[in-house]
Amino acid sequence: MKILLVEDDPTLGEAVLLAVQQAGFIVDWTRDGIQAETALTGYAYDAVMLDLGLPRREGLEVLRNLRKRGATTPVMILTARDTVEERVKGLNAGADDYLLKPFALDELLARLRALLRRAHGVADTCIRIGRLSFDSIKRQASVGETPLVLSAREIQVLELLLSHAGRVMAKESIADRLTGWDEGVGDNAVEVYVHRLRRKLEGSGVVIRTLRGLGYLLEAER
Ligand code: CA
Repeated sequence: MKILLVEDDPTLGEAVLLAVQQAGFIVDWTRDGIQAETALTGYAYDAVMLDLGLPRREGLEVLRNLRKRGATTPVMILTARDTVEERVKGLNAGADDYLLKPFALDELLARLRALLRRAHGVADTCIRIGRLSFDSIKRQASVGETPLVLSAREIQVLELLLSHAGRVMAKESIADRLTGWDEGVGDNAVEVYVHRLRRKLEGSGVVIRTLRGLGYLLEAER
């Protein structure tokens, strides 16, 4: 899953970036409001962590503009502004969560995962389809009781497909979410990961179907 971090404080930004990357997410980091809007209009993100006091454009304006464009991307505000009015303003502008600085990185990660679960309509930290289960905290997939040996990329692709289970996900959309903007993963690479996943998922009761020209669909085998 790919996260946009918008934070102008270099020390805090670096700490959050590392923690979120270590938790298995792909992160793009922007340091001002205009950069953030450029990123949000040009790339797909699964969630945004947004500071409010930003150079060039306030975080709240970035958020309002995002919602004006009709984007439902979950947004968590990270801020030291702790009055009730400020929090209400943030939530009314379309934020999904509000975390006060200073915060513990563990709480940030827990809230980020909760935000993503809500956005995908998943109640549990463990997703189960057929005999396949995926623990989104340990980032471990298992078939029955047997853990699957998957590469980091394979886990990322599986997690994306699982969170969109039963719905088609375009190949470009998967490729886009596998790397930050300074790297690139081609559509061909996605095909390779899906091919490997299919082999490893044999006997799990879960299949990844190819819908020509549309993308991939993960679902329980019928
Ligand atoms: Ca700031």
